[in-house]
Amino acid sequence: MDSGIKVFSFDVDGTLVSQEFADCVWLRGIPEAYAAKHALSFEHAFEFVKREYDNIGENRIEWYNIRFWLRKFNLKIAYEKLFEKYEAEVKIYTEVESVLKVLKEAGYVLVVNSNAATEFIDFQIQPIRKYFSHVFSATSDFGELKKSNGHYAQVCEILDVKPQEVVHTGDHFVFDFLNPRRIGITAYYLDRSRDAMPAVNGNDEFLISDLNELLDAFELI
Ligand SMILES: [Mg+2]
Repeated sequence: MDSGIKVFSFDVDGTLVSQEFADCVWLRGIPEAYAAKHALSFEHAFEFVKREYDNIGENRIEWYNIRFWLRKFNLKIAYEKLFEKYEAEVKIYTEVESVLKVLKEAGYVLVVNSNAATEFIDFQIQPIRKYFSHVFSATSDFGELKKSNGHYAQVCEILDVKPQEVVHTGDHFVFDFLNPRRIGITAYYLDRSRDAMPAVNGNDEFLISDLNELLDAFELI
């Protein structure tokens, strides 16, 4: 099938890997380190840290930056150490590697497009990094809070492809589905829980529950 597609792009959290690792780092690792430093109970430290997260909020770019938070809380621990502590929590979804392998062998260029900071992406995708030619972080690379249509346009420019030559898949309805579609990218909305969203409005063929369905759609099975 000649679909004119050259690039397959993927979100990270909830798409390639589960959310557990990031949650452990932010909601266990950092409060624990803060508790140890100030001889507080975990609960007190958690409350304080959580309040500070909320004060900055996800609409400020610092919120995504682990170095900022370690500095702010004056914690003398390298983020790499925190990451190592929770390495066992990194869970790449079971079908991911085999799907990437098929796409790669079929000659497609594979890229990652995430809101997460580069440090988080790199650490979590290590075992499958070899399949990707580019890893784009909206926050670290473009200083954007979320993957906007402008983000996707910049990525197409860097890859030197038209939006019509790109397929993007992710689990956020706005950042992974509506925004890439605005510029003509073929987007698939991934709903791993299958509590299907009927509101895709006649776009049901673009609603998938795991990545194997991409292979079906592009006749690679
Ligand atoms: Mg996601």
